[in-house]
Amino acid sequence: MGKILENIIPSEITTKLNKINSLVIFTGAGISASAKIPTLTGPGCSPVWEYNFINDLLSKEKISSKTILHLRLLDNLLEKVRLAYPTPAHLAIDKIASRFSSFNVISQNFDDLHLRNNLSTCLMLHGEITKARCLECNLLKAIETSYKEHWKTKCICGGAWKPDLLLFDEVMAKELWQKAENLAQSCEMFISIGSSGQVLPGGLLPAIARGKGAFLVEINLIPTEITPHFHYTVLGKSDEIVPRLFT
Ligand SMILES: [Zn+2]
Repeated sequence: MGKILENIIPSEITTKLNKINSLVIFTGAGISASAKIPTLTGPGCSPVWEYNFINDLLSKEKISSKTILHLRLLDNLLEKVRLAYPTPAHLAIDKIASRFSSFNVISQNFDDLHLRNNLSTCLMLHGEITKARCLECNLLKAIETSYKEHWKTKCICGGAWKPDLLLFDEVMAKELWQKAENLAQSCEMFISIGSSGQVLPGGLLPAIARGKGAFLVEINLIPTEITPHFHYTVLGKSDEIVPRLFT
């Protein structure tokens, strides 16, 4: 078990950051909370009934029926993402990317806030709500209108669409997970920001990085299930701590 600190960034962390060449940043819904994108766990999260509703609708089994209710839910989330701006924490991450010879973000979020600026190396473990994937040929296409409108169209191959999201009862693609695992295994430092660590398999990455000797820092509002894997857990708002950490 490491040290849990409130709003304090010890010099050991900043000294390490200045020495290392490879950094992995792992982000969860907490980093996008101030952009008003709903979180499903943690303080201020969606109420349980809403979580159950989303969980139920965003299952592969249910979504294949593509009712108006599914599309309304997806359009509601899409609208929230379109109206959102990258948070101070997202912007601070973009700024430090060029400092390292190996810099990667692994995100469990469905929003595209990491991808809005210059950050090109972001592994989106759970896909992006702004895109649809063809069920037949796997073509990825941005949703320019709304889910409701997009779903009236077909892919050029004639196939129907699915949201480019890892649905609750779907298994992550092997190659994607392998990439994430390789990054966690080979980084010198691993920083988790706003992840509860409850969603698998992403929640396994801190333990994987620790097992290979990385230095681990967690930034979150409250301690999490994965806290024991970190050398330091800094409790506080990511918008306040991340910019301070990366100055
Ligand atoms: Zn197709």
